[in-house]
Amino acid sequence: MAEFVRHVKELAKPITSALGYLDIELTERCNNDCIHCCINRPVNDEEARSREMTTGQIKIILAESAGLGSLEVRFTGGEPLLRPDFEELYLYARRLGINVLIFTNARLLTPHMVDLFARIPPRMPIEVTVYGMHKESYEAVTRAPGSFFQFRRGVQLLLERKVPFVVKSVVLPPNRTEMDEFEAWARTIPWMTERPRYSIFFDLRNRRDDAQKNRLIESLRPSPREGLAVIVRDAEKTRKDMGEFASKFMGPPGNMLFGCGAGCGLSIDAYGQAQPCMGLHAPDLTHNVRSEIRDEAGGITHHSALAGALASFKYLREMRAANPDYLRRCAVCFLKGFCEQCPGKSWVEHGTLDTPVEYFCEAAHAQARWMGWLDKNEMGWTVINWKERVRKA
Ligand code: SF4
Ligand code: SF4
Repeated sequence: MAEFVRHVKELAKPITSALGYLDIELTERCNNDCIHCCINRPVNDEEARSREMTTGQIKIILAESAGLGSLEVRFTGGEPLLRPDFEELYLYARRLGINVLIFTNARLLTPHMVDLFARIPPRMPIEVTVYGMHKESYEAVTRAPGSFFQFRRGVQLLLERKVPFVVKSVVLPPNRTEMDEFEAWARTIPWMTERPRYSIFFDLRNRRDDAQKNRLIESLRPSPREGLAVIVRDAEKTRKDMGEFASKFMGPPGNMLFGCGAGCGLSIDAYGQAQPCMGLHAPDLTHNVRSEIRDEAGGITHHSALAGALASFKYLREMRAANPDYLRRCAVCFLKGFCEQCPGKSWVEHGTLDTPVEYFCEAAHAQARWMGWLDKNEMGWTVINWKERVRKA
């Protein structure tokens, strides 16, 4: 549901610049080692650190982004606050007039950093992920001793300095029984105007780099029925959001692979590769922005690395699915768009862009049945009169 709600909001945003969105993964390293994580590398991974973009390269990206009229960036990771130049990058973005959305586990928030956010606000609420309400549950997820105390201290600093933030969570076996407690606490946070979002249906490793970790992630995935139970905790709102989404974005895509907003904006990974979106790491679909940026010695003058990456992603609209199973199912399935299956997730699970992902397929069907769009044994790709059903439900 967390991703669903975000998706609704992102799709609904008017695109006002040539660059629809900009995400920068400042590092893949993290001071946590969460049991479900699809991206993290160890905090002291020197090999990863040595490949990360330099401060100057990231500044050039930010400057070009502002030049393209895009005045919002998401700093994510890994843990973005791990970078020693985080403050410099943050200030640089803010001086350009760019609003900064920060995704963090809050462990590295210091009085100095939070004072800075109070003085020069990011202009978007910081998003803090909460892995548990108690030391035992939290650290059973993060596998980082001492992390719970640091997270609580970070959140306390934000509260004391009145820096707007929101909290979200991940539903995992160690914290599954704490949802009521988490939501009660979330209601005490002044900037939480809505129920917190949850990550529920976990992705496998985004880079297909760790079969053993994938087996762990698979073992943590809730069944579609269990996932549905979390989604419908706020049944009335869920029904409204899903209905709204369905009427705008759902429907059979035919053989067109990318019916989403992929390629309208850019997600730049820690090593300077532009991806069409955060979830799409297929190497064939990346564009090396870093190689087109002169380093600091070249000065921050005129660059067109982002514009080049955007132009290079235009062909995504022309890409067509060829997998017979996809053509038989997803291509004619009215749940496409609503279902989490997409080329990025297909690549992560199967190494191809057009293979239905059974886990997401079952999850989508469970939700569609709850919405009354499908009968018990019906499948989305067999239904013709779906518009009428969605309207009536
Ligand atoms: S805090 Fe986030 S990036 Fe770090 S290991 Fe946990 S889920 Fe991954
Ligand atoms: S519900 Fe299944 S068939 Fe329909 S789009 Fe998703 S994966 Fe494809």
